[in-house]
Amino acid sequence: MDAVSSKRILIVEDEKDVVDLLTLNLRKAGGFTIATASDGAAGLTKARGEKPDFIILDLMLPKMPGLEVCKLLKSDPATRHIPILMLTARAEEIDRIVGLEFGADDYVTKPFSPREVILRVKAILRRGAADETADRLSAGPITIDPSRHEVLVDGKPVDLTSLEFKLLRTLMQRRGRVQERDRLLNEVWGYESVIDTRTVDTHVRRLREKLGKAGDIVETVRGFGYRFREK
Ligand code: CA
Repeated sequence: MDAVSSKRILIVEDEKDVVDLLTLNLRKAGGFTIATASDGAAGLTKARGEKPDFIILDLMLPKMPGLEVCKLLKSDPATRHIPILMLTARAEEIDRIVGLEFGADDYVTKPFSPREVILRVKAILRRGAADETADRLSAGPITIDPSRHEVLVDGKPVDLTSLEFKLLRTLMQRRGRVQERDRLLNEVWGYESVIDTRTVDTHVRRLREKLGKAGDIVETVRGFGYRFREK
């Protein structure tokens, strides 16, 4: 890949070993330009200033925790489109869940295999590229525009996290068909094994709340999962 089409990745991590491992493997994979920041505050400044194509964000950081960085970037219209892959330690399960709710796109648990990280990065970037050319979807009062990551209910924008957006889009694309919880976990969250299907319930509840009166278009199919109502 040439310099023009290479993806700019910002790695925010204070552990030098981890930065070196990621840098080495991203270079080997090719197609990436790498910038680094060794604390949360510096990471936030670089992300805002340089608007990288992708951020790998560790949660345990000096000066500002990774979760805070994630929250600030994902709540700012200027940076919210930048995908974030979180690095978490095994003990940080709660942080991981909170991170996904703040809009992080995915996570890997330390110690990770660099190959796994690169696969995730590529998958997320591919998904983003597919969104750019995806058509608008419309059903009842709800319209979503994948290229702009925008959701409208009766013409008014609704603020969704990237997970809620993916969940809504998946349900809309399969309108009228029941989607099982573990299938949603697999496709929306990217979990390979079922961790806890209640995660899906929590997110559906929040999604419905945000959609307001239009929320009941997402139906619960008791014992199975969820369905975007046909009519
Ligand atoms: Ca760290």
